Amino acid sequence: MKYISTRGNSTVDSTFDALLKGLSDDGGLYIPEKLPKVKFEKEEIEKFNYVDFANKIIGSIFDDIDKNDLRREIENAYATFEEDILPIKKLSNKYVMELYHGSTFAFKDFALSLLPRLIKLAIKEKNLEEKIVVLTATSGDTGSAALYGFKDVENTKIVVFYPTDGISEVQRRQMTTIDGKNTFAIAIKGNFDDAQSALKEIFTDDGFKEKLKSKKYVVSSANSINIGRLVPQIVYYYYSYYKLVEKDEIKNGEEISISVPTGNFGNILAGYLAKEMGLPIRDLICASNRNNILSDFINTGEYNVNREFYKTNSPSMDILISSNLERFLYYKLKDSESINKLMTDLKEKRFYKLDNLSIFNDIYGYSFNDEETIKGIKKVYDEFKYLMDTHTVIGYMAAEEYQKDENIKVLIASTASPYKFANSIAEALEIEQEGELENLKEIENITGIKLPKRFEDILNAEVTQNLVIDKSKMRDSILEVL
Ligand SMILES: *Cc1c(COP(=O)(O)O)cnc(C)c1O
Repeated sequence: MKYISTRGNSTVDSTFDALLKGLSDDGGLYIPEKLPKVKFEKEEIEKFNYVDFANKIIGSIFDDIDKNDLRREIENAYATFEEDILPIKKLSNKYVMELYHGSTFAFKDFALSLLPRLIKLAIKEKNLEEKIVVLTATSGDTGSAALYGFKDVENTKIVVFYPTDGISEVQRRQMTTIDGKNTFAIAIKGNFDDAQSALKEIFTDDGFKEKLKSKKYVVSSANSINIGRLVPQIVYYYYSYYKLVEKDEIKNGEEISISVPTGNFGNILAGYLAKEMGLPIRDLICASNRNNILSDFINTGEYNVNREFYKTNSPSMDILISSNLERFLYYKLKDSESINKLMTDLKEKRFYKLDNLSIFNDIYGYSFNDEETIKGIKKVYDEFKYLMDTHTVIGYMAAEEYQKDENIKVLIASTASPYKFANSIAEALEIEQEGELENLKEIENITGIKLPKRFEDILNAEVTQNLVIDKSKMRDSILEVL
């Protein structure tokens, strides 16, 4: 597969090159030159497990990776998950895909348990002299999933930058207690956008990259700008759709819509790619928290970063500049000149506006604030005895709004375990708040929903990473770590 940049001035000839580079040299994002159409026959639907689905879908795009290598790495990646990799729960006319049964209890494990293994293959295949240093900015969940994924992977080092504020105690502990030989978590004074923007500058800073090269390192990214993050996420939309077919919940070919709690627009974009590849998805429902820049954009055509940034109780969606939106715009506008113009406006004016809203014909945007989020968790629990985390419930509430007008079933992406954001769950269930660990246990007592033992282990583990820096010092700390 060849990959082209959304900004039109750069291509790479192989999947391994795209995986290793992360961001394109012209500042754009790589997309596969063409998207294959994929569907599953009746016998496949009956016979295939998650790994089989992943193998067929990922293999159709990453078609230049050796088939046996790919199959093996996919098997190993998903062996780190619980036995039921992806349970699907039915709540009336909605279905919830629980994407949180991997190592760090968030959907990002689906891509980040595989990406490091593919990067390892790429290093070997390309006979690279240099080692790879993976640089990642995180709003919480990417960081822990990437650290776990890259931990002790040969010839790689990973440096994760996370904001000091706005992440949960479980998320912080997952990062600061990591004990790989090659894993580093560094706190940045500021918010996620600060860390992500500073990192994007590093990615296009040739002088700095030369400096790293002289130390025998090349940079790559584990953020969802990397195509290796996106492609594995297409799989679960397919898998869930066909599971619903198998269980006679929907007919094969029947359209459904998907609702995705959205921050950097990666997960929902994977759903859009599934649609482009032929999965019968009608609409995409983009669910935002109080940082509702995306739902505003969908409703008005104006993408305006000149607005207040809020710290919310769904911190993994506290993002104003959604990287993957650029890929979506490219697929819709099919014109890199327009993308360049929009992205220049974004950089210079922190604002852009579309002339034509027709690209939003199959996407809906809704947003909910913290209070609605807490009430939503309580309401879903009271109605179904089912617990959703603060992000997922926003997807649920968006689906509910959408279904007031549209009579169609909705598949909701449940992006994190409720236990990952225990203090908010405790608030919703009106549990006396003491500490996060006490809350976890009390939630388990009251709801009977099993607390994974790994949660406790993480909260009790020794802190090994405690560096806090100013964002202007990111380059220095990268060099120091290497
Ligand atoms: C990362 C994350 C999101 C947002 O996903 P994007 O792909 O960035 O849109 C939503 N919920 C949780 C729990 C996350 O970790």
